[in-house]
Amino acid sequence: MPRVISTMIILFSLAGGLPAQVRPELTAEKLDEGLYLVRNTGGNVLFWDGPEGVLAVDCGTVPDHGMRLVDLIRKTTGKEPRFLVLTHYHYDHAGGAAAFPDSTITIAHDSLNRNMAERLEPLMNELLFGPGDRAIAFLEKQAADASLSKEERKNAERALALNTDARERYRSVKPLEADLTFSESLSVNAGRGRVRLLYLGPGHCRDNIMVLFPDYGILHTGDFVLNGALPYLDGPGGGSLVNWISVLEQLEKMEGWTRIVPGHGAVMSRDGLARLREMMTRLLADIRDLKSRNVPYEEALEEMQKKTYLDLPAKDLFPYTFRAVWEELDAVRP
Ligand SMILES: [Zn+2]
Repeated sequence: MPRVISTMIILFSLAGGLPAQVRPELTAEKLDEGLYLVRNTGGNVLFWDGPEGVLAVDCGTVPDHGMRLVDLIRKTTGKEPRFLVLTHYHYDHAGGAAAFPDSTITIAHDSLNRNMAERLEPLMNELLFGPGDRAIAFLEKQAADASLSKEERKNAERALALNTDARERYRSVKPLEADLTFSESLSVNAGRGRVRLLYLGPGHCRDNIMVLFPDYGILHTGDFVLNGALPYLDGPGGGSLVNWISVLEQLEKMEGWTRIVPGHGAVMSRDGLARLREMMTRLLADIRDLKSRNVPYEEALEEMQKKTYLDLPAKDLFPYTFRAVWEELDAVRP
């Protein structure tokens, strides 16, 4: 049943560009004393237990994830989440925020509220509901197709139920306004040492920030860094590949951290950063080259899709990245 199976994962595989389970089991993985990582709700979630309360970084894809994260935080620390830092507006990082208690202070970059208001719904329509609706229509047809075997129809029905459930959950994600925003950097005291929030300009999108835990040498990069997946550039959300590369260069030079918690994927050492920067630099150079040779858009995209260095999970989002880079290069041309 390859057709049904491939359709079944459409809705899930586009959740932030990575396979996301709809109802995952949540576990807190201890990175250091009082610092925990939760990996399977979409983007990587961190929470830090300080005497004044708990600071969480990102909060899952849908309110249901947020609810279960809050339970996990209470169970692990015996405390309420006092601060919730959002690395950026994408639903796979911020979609769970609605389920946090009203007393939790959400913190983000100044431009998050604009992206939430203007870009969250179009982004979800494009990446989730469009493909999801097409998958559901296809599965409905398969489930009713008398020419298929009983088992094939049953598989289609199961996939249909999963996709319909996922669509309802994604529909419960709504734009939000952060309680506290900053422009360049912000230090938050919450227990031992400080947490530093950094904005180094647009990259993955306009409002992406990073969160440094100096006492642990740990940096949560949001989607500036992905481990084991192809990065996605959100052009309409204000992303910039040129600045993204420059941010990666700045991070390589920055002291005070030894481990990265990427937006998605396993914790990384500093070495992983250089490899990512090299790939992004190559990507920019290759698209620049195609433009300088006046290769038409569709042909250039096709040529780029043959590049083996882009053969990573989440490649289904590459056409969006390609368009964003193409338009960014158009904009800087005289
Ligand atoms: Zn993102």
